[in-house]
Amino acid sequence: MIYVAAVLFFASAIGFILGLRMLRRPETARRGNMVSAFGMLCAVLGTLAETIAHGHFNTLAAVCVLGGLAIGAAIGFPAARFVKMTAMPEMVALFNGFGGIASLLIGWSQTQMAVAGAEQAGGMGPMLIKLTGGQPNVVTLATFFAILIGGVTFTGSLVAFGKLSERITTKPVLYPGQNIVNGLAVLVAVILGIWFAVAPDQIWLLYILIPLSFVLGVAVVIPIGGGDMPVVISLLNSYSGLAACAAGFAVNSPLLIIIGALVGASGLILTRIMCLAMNRSLSNVLFSGFGSASTSGGGGSGEKKEARILSPQDAYHVLEAAQSVIFVPGYGMAVAQAQHAVKQLADVLKANGCEVKHVIHPVAGRMPGHMNVLLAEANVEYEDLAVPEDVNPMMETIDVAIVIGANDVVNPAALTDKDSPIYGMPIIEVHRAKTVFTLKRSLRSGYAGIDNPLFYMENNAMVLGDAKKTVEALIAEFKSED
Ligand code: NDP
Repeated sequence: MIYVAAVLFFASAIGFILGLRMLRRPETARRGNMVSAFGMLCAVLGTLAETIAHGHFNTLAAVCVLGGLAIGAAIGFPAARFVKMTAMPEMVALFNGFGGIASLLIGWSQTQMAVAGAEQAGGMGPMLIKLTGGQPNVVTLATFFAILIGGVTFTGSLVAFGKLSERITTKPVLYPGQNIVNGLAVLVAVILGIWFAVAPDQIWLLYILIPLSFVLGVAVVIPIGGGDMPVVISLLNSYSGLAACAAGFAVNSPLLIIIGALVGASGLILTRIMCLAMNRSLSNVLFSGFGSASTSGGGGSGEKKEARILSPQDAYHVLEAAQSVIFVPGYGMAVAQAQHAVKQLADVLKANGCEVKHVIHPVAGRMPGHMNVLLAEANVEYEDLAVPEDVNPMMETIDVAIVIGANDVVNPAALTDKDSPIYGMPIIEVHRAKTVFTLKRSLRSGYAGIDNPLFYMENNAMVLGDAKKTVEALIAEFKSED
């Protein structure tokens, strides 16, 4: 049976590595997800086989492993199947949190096993040494990290979930000396960890560490604004991997170490990519309180300016004559579920002899790849997609840029206003196109809560209303002319 367990663990590790690799390309991503899920199934069955091989199999073990599998599938399947696309980042935040608390519980159970063993053997140290083949410090350090990082990930993810779902304020919660207080809390945690590593029998240290890790998770995420939550979620995802990796060392599970390292590394890489997309450093994201600045009205200059408002019928006349059009989708396209209508309008424009591209900003929407997923769902061809670097250099040659429910990612204040909190973030520079149509419901700000001078520029016209209805009205205009 031990060989069965080894084969299942090996298959699981391969499944996770291949699955992650397949996620790199939209064409293979769906299959990659299935391969990773298969890897997870192998891991659970391998655990069951290992339990049998070690002679620990009993009704309780079967109920725990198979019951856990059934309950997890019963919650996870409908949650993933029926979650709204716009609520996906919140779900990812929750899943990260569950990963964190699972690692904390593994670390905790490790110490409980040691305590139980010590009570039988008459001392704590010998049991830890027995558990680890004579390396108590590695195990105690790993246990410490699993508990600390797991606890931080758990409560940090709950706060991120609350901010993203707007159950709690999306604004940064700041107070004087906050970074010093947080720094001191980290220092206390490190001291506890070193102490525990050299004195593994001092289990009481963990009774301080666990609540401290929960408090730290809340403390490090509340000063971060809602606009930076994608980066935070990606970072917490990485933390959940590191916690799992530490838990793997604590319980001597190579599979957990491999999977934890994969999640930890990929989360860090994604975090870096997102920081680069916003032209900000990670420390700026974590410590600057981005989004707390108050915004000025009417385009950032203090004076109230008038935005030009057009009806879909008027916009149609400009589009009808356009030779090149770019679509810039944003969060509003997801809310309106306008992707199918956008694809239809793109087809109509192509049939009219127009060149069409869909330009996707890396942080458009509410999760990495959000716009790619929606446009793929609407069967937009991959070759019709473009990134800002492709289009920005030739923006002056574009006849019409149609902004579909995007706001922050086309805000020129990021280029011109040194006082703007998003100054320095690369944007899709639609304001340099010959004509811009901005499709949204009002002149309200986007996720970062800042005004957008684009709305008041001479080459821009607002086509107000639900994005899907507006796009459908444009299609109807084209059809009525046929
Ligand atoms: P924004 O949030 O900046 O703007 C979206 C706009 O969509 C709003 O201003 C809203 O205006 C409009 N809108 C909402 N519903 C509709 C509708 N039914 N029809 C038409 N318009 C609608 O979106 P962007 O995509 O431009 O920028 C993404 C922002 O979200 C960035 O700040 C990014 O940092 C942040 N973020 C990104 C994540 C990611 O991973 N991609 C995750 C979390 C946050 P109105 O109300 O007037 O209609």
